[in-house]
Amino acid sequence: MAILDGQAAAADLLAHVGLRAAEFTERTGRAPMLATVLVGSDPASHTYVKMKQNRCRQVGIESRRVELGQETTTEELVAAVEALSADDAVDGILLQHPVPPQIDEHLAFEAISPEKDVDGVTLASFAAMSFSEPGYASCTPGGIMRLLDAYDVDLAGKHAVVVGRSRILGKPMAMLMLERNATVTICHSRTTDLADRVAEADVVVAAVGRPELVRGAWIKPGAVVVDAGYNAGNVGDVEYGAAAERASWITPVPGGVGPMTIATLLAQTMDSAERRGA
Ligand code: NAP
Repeated sequence: MAILDGQAAAADLLAHVGLRAAEFTERTGRAPMLATVLVGSDPASHTYVKMKQNRCRQVGIESRRVELGQETTTEELVAAVEALSADDAVDGILLQHPVPPQIDEHLAFEAISPEKDVDGVTLASFAAMSFSEPGYASCTPGGIMRLLDAYDVDLAGKHAVVVGRSRILGKPMAMLMLERNATVTICHSRTTDLADRVAEADVVVAAVGRPELVRGAWIKPGAVVVDAGYNAGNVGDVEYGAAAERASWITPVPGGVGPMTIATLLAQTMDSAERRGA
């Protein structure tokens, strides 16, 4: 068994982003800019946004923080996001999820201009990603693809099983692997034979949000195991110890998928800055 080291792959990616940011700033006279939008007071969301802003600073990307109150309406949030979409100084927009329940999240995400959707959350981004057209991948699945590429894990002809079908993770993950010629099965909460499906997989991606739901004994010997789950106590969605004994490659939790998600956000912000020019 060998480790898919997300910390190391993310450090390599961010070092490259840093070089590109310096070159961009020198050439255009302004730094690349990521705008973050935070609605309400969810402590975890505040922590995530702060982490992303710190990483921006470390690589020479400027960040602008827009904070809106817990009582914000859909109209107010849409107007704030539209203003950023129209602002020439902004290269990328991140609307931190989740937003308070009174807000129509879908409308708010769709207010992000696809050319600035560096978090890959709009319908246009999903379509572009699914057909390998220019655009931005949802960051967690995009980061997982970068991690697999960093270790030369070839997906062509492999049977990939994705557990979870969320808009930001499971479904886009499946589409990205399909574009790489994997044969893809998507499992979800109504799947009746999860253990059997996982046991058929050459590549398993767990994206559920339930501690150790995927048991080590289900893993086919030699399979590649990617654990996107992050649960309280630094526990993933895969039973790590037992799975590691059977897997050829496995991501640790933490230090696997998480660092790649942020690095991908910043790399895509850099892509947007370069596409948009000065
Ligand atoms: P989500 O929106 O709650 O989706 C969970 C998915 O898992 C759903 O599709 C659900 O099926 C499925 N599911 C639930 N119980 C299941 C079961 N018993 N068997 C099979 N499938 C089941 O979660 P998410 O946003 O995709 O996140 C998933 C995990 O990834 C979480 O642990 C989250 O913390 C983590 N995450 C990590 C990062 C990172 O950067 N590392 C980023 C995002 C998320 P239904 O569709 O049928 O309900």
